[in-house]
Amino acid sequence: MSEFQSVRGFHDLFGEDLKKFRHVSNLIREKLKLYNFEEIVIPVLEYLEVFQRSIGEATDIVQKEMFAFQDRKGRWIALRPEGTAGVVRAYVQNRLYALKPYAKLFYEGPMFRHERPQAGRYRQFHQIGAEVFGPLDPLVDAEMIQLVYEILSELNIKATIEVNSIGCKSCRPAYREALSLYLNALERRLCEVCLDRKGRNPLRVLDCKVPTCKEAVKDAPKMLDFLCKECGEHHFKLKEYLNTLSIPYRENPNLVRGLDYYTKTVFEAVSADMNITLIAGGRYDYLVEEMGGPPTPAVGFAVGLERLSMLFKEHVREEPLYMVVPFGDVLDYALFIAKVLRSEGKRVELSYRRGSLKKQLELANRLGVRYAVLVGEEEKAGGFYTLKDMETGEQLRVEFSPSL
Ligand code: ATP
Ligand code: MG
Repeated sequence: MSEFQSVRGFHDLFGEDLKKFRHVSNLIREKLKLYNFEEIVIPVLEYLEVFQRSIGEATDIVQKEMFAFQDRKGRWIALRPEGTAGVVRAYVQNRLYALKPYAKLFYEGPMFRHERPQAGRYRQFHQIGAEVFGPLDPLVDAEMIQLVYEILSELNIKATIEVNSIGCKSCRPAYREALSLYLNALERRLCEVCLDRKGRNPLRVLDCKVPTCKEAVKDAPKMLDFLCKECGEHHFKLKEYLNTLSIPYRENPNLVRGLDYYTKTVFEAVSADMNITLIAGGRYDYLVEEMGGPPTPAVGFAVGLERLSMLFKEHVREEPLYMVVPFGDVLDYALFIAKVLRSEGKRVELSYRRGSLKKQLELANRLGVRYAVLVGEEEKAGGFYTLKDMETGEQLRVEFSPSL
């Protein structure tokens, strides 16, 4: 074992895994551009309050998952555990609301959470997230879910989209009350964590993964029965739009999100093969105002890139690799040919190993070369190269225009 190890839960990404990761990320970025989202790059560090105020004091993330520390001046700062808080901070600080009637922003980058590492759960992981600021229309919620659906379909990843509404300031308090009463009555059936949660954040009990808790909340009151007129209509409309778009979804009345800022629509894409959440999001209509901006409804989602890459099983196709193989005293000509081929847009490796042609072709095979470009004295004198297809063994004399 080498003397130095990466920090627990922090991983290096390279080789095939990274190719998949980039493929997934590029596909999502292209998709977001089709929906006219603009990128925003925000810092990895924020003052701790940014996360406490937005994500919520009583959430798992703020309570126990943050990498927070004091800087040299004693101010508390934290590595971002998610992207929305920072984007909202940036939206308000830079007065982006004054530029356009609404904004569609996306971000990509590493997030940090002090969780117990396991498959698909790391302490540094990556998300791409999208946010729409301005419209309250359920049309936007539908388009966000449509995006999620298209991303998963195009990557051929099987997942179920779950949808729920968790209401707003006017209807949630009555529900919270009803849920608390229900939870108090079945206290003995709840896990330790939920016993602690239920006073501060009873909705989170619905999300507990412990089987006894899951069983205990089966007959709990449902937010859907408590929605006010506005939230009820919003939810109804959303489902209508999803049907119009033929997007399959499952209504899950126990779906709540682990962050306090959500209102009305919440959704998740859950893997069909492994029971893990791949993409999660929802509406957060009060957050911009709570962070000091004008009242601005918003909706967004975040994609876990490691989780999608892990489930993406296709081979990532790459451009065929060419290798210029010089034999004899023709290195200058080999350099030149490599330059010509690259100027034609080909992916080209110049053999760095000297030796017999046979040795070099063995090297080419090990490097996954598709076409060997053989250049010797004869090629140099005649101004051509010999193209060898490494799969079929066929050889071809290729002249090229001397103007290059
Ligand atoms: P989970 O229920 O799995 O803990 P979460 O509700 O904490 O997820 P969000 O905060 O909504 O997740 O983040 C959105 C997505 O980011 C998740 O669906 C997942 O794909 C990814 N994600 C969250 N935490 C991690 C992690 N520790 N490691 C890798 N990916 C993660
Ligand atoms: Mg989590």
